[in-house]
Amino acid sequence: MPALSLLLFWIIRFLCQDPYVAEREKMVREQIRARGVHDEATLRAMREVPRHLFVPESLQPVAYGDYPLPIGQGQTISQPYIVAYMTAVVEPQANFRVLEIGTGSGYQAAVLAEIVDSVYTIEIVKELAESAGERLQRLQYRNIVVKYGDGYAGWREHAPFDAIIVTAGAEEIPPPLFEQLREGGKMVIPVGSVHTAQSLLLVTKKNGKMTKTNLMPVRFVPFTREKESKNE
Ligand code: SAH
Repeated sequence: MPALSLLLFWIIRFLCQDPYVAEREKMVREQIRARGVHDEATLRAMREVPRHLFVPESLQPVAYGDYPLPIGQGQTISQPYIVAYMTAVVEPQANFRVLEIGTGSGYQAAVLAEIVDSVYTIEIVKELAESAGERLQRLQYRNIVVKYGDGYAGWREHAPFDAIIVTAGAEEIPPPLFEQLREGGKMVIPVGSVHTAQSLLLVTKKNGKMTKTNLMPVRFVPFTREKESKNE
């Protein structure tokens, strides 16, 4: 009898296992750590968040591939390495309040929420804001607040933020976002015009002054403004 219970226990355990645990481990090892991201909290979060639940069902088998994927409404979920890199570069701490612009699928917000105290995230496409909000609730991320709107203005009620992550390619650094960054805080943002390549910038605030560091060339979907998206 005890042998049978033990067998049942292992069968149930096997059936309940997340089939993607090994894929996430491989993703972290081969795509992220191998390229120089060593922040332990970030690596742990990337191993933890079920990325396959943030992409359309038909793409779940390729959710852990080394590329961005479409998430509907012409938008994309970034490549895993880029998500990890942007997370690690703001040096997230357990007590941080973070602002994200461009919720998309909610994946970047979930990765941050595994590490920091609270995540405020804004999405300009209503359908995406709604579906990400529902998804994050279903996955029991209680420290993420999703808002539908234009992230250009930031989220004044919850400022200042310890870190800001912008996941859409802007033409400039929106001044309200810099204002809402706390002294000593870090913002990471892709900047470039529609016609030129974008650069991923690290923006820091010291004595109220802005310092910019060019990190790498990137390609993000455009940062849109409220008026434009209403005309669509
Ligand atoms: N961080 C997302 C990927 C984002 S793709 C994820 O992890 O899945 C960029 C997102 O930024 C898109 O969903 C796009 O609709 C949104 N976006 C573009 N301009 C915006 C703006 N002004 N305010 C808020 N969101 C914006």
